[in-house]
Amino acid sequence: MADVLYFNGRFTTTEERVLGVEDRGFQFGDALYEVFKFVGRRPAFLNEHYRRLEQGLRALEIRNPWTGEAFAAAMRELLGRTEFDDGIVYIQISRGEAERSHFWPEELEPTVVAYSRRFRFPDAVKKELGVKVITTVDRRWHFCNMKSVNLLGNAMGKKQAQRAGADEALLLADGFVREGASSSFFAVRNGALITHPLDEHILPGVVRDRVIGLALASKIRVDERPLREAELFDLDEAFLTSTTQGVMPITAIDGRAIRNSRRGAVTGELQQSFDELERGSADG
Ligand code: PLP
Repeated sequence: MADVLYFNGRFTTTEERVLGVEDRGFQFGDALYEVFKFVGRRPAFLNEHYRRLEQGLRALEIRNPWTGEAFAAAMRELLGRTEFDDGIVYIQISRGEAERSHFWPEELEPTVVAYSRRFRFPDAVKKELGVKVITTVDRRWHFCNMKSVNLLGNAMGKKQAQRAGADEALLLADGFVREGASSSFFAVRNGALITHPLDEHILPGVVRDRVIGLALASKIRVDERPLREAELFDLDEAFLTSTTQGVMPITAIDGRAIRNSRRGAVTGELQQSFDELERGSADG
């Protein structure tokens, strides 16, 4: 079924082939993307997603087509035209279209696409059962703090996880755990959270940031430091966070059960408080 598509300021559907073959996003991966969730056609954490997009575009010197207000208006119109209530919006902004050359022209009009799509968010059963993960090598480029469309390293990790009967791949480098292929990673040890600090090795996850805030508000200590690979063998709990999964318990790593393969108490508490915060954000 065709989805509603925003393309360079107009609305069409995903049936229309809109991109040229010399779009730099297609040929060079010269593009950023964003994904936000909507519930009852109301976007969750829209400002946070815009802010990350805006920062990434500025860092890569890609012209930002939207002010915060224009972005919100375009997204609300997209959701107004959407025929279902809950789902995700995928947004991609490339530097633009130009005759293929590594040297990009200074003044390019960005190519902007956004479409809404149905999405099956995890239900209460899945949220309790959690997911299994594997560990693999982080094969990504050096600017993982940007939400770049260069996702081949991530996709290779995910495919490896799927073939191993797992849901997600934890990406390791230099003996440390960085994050999931499409999620942030948290360990729980002695009642405290451990998660990788914000730097070029991980994406600044919107849910990661909210969860840290919720933990601190509940007097749960948060250590933002890289977790050594060896520490994976001695965790009390672990979980992933992402826009599409919220807070998702990890029940096994590389086939080893974490404790008794049950959602831990800290994970459960943060999962519940995050879901409430998200509902509030989508209401506002
Ligand atoms: N890390 C990576 C590599 C991701 O691709 C994602 C989401 O797609 C995340 C973390 C989680 O980010 P967010 O919480 O903003 O969805």
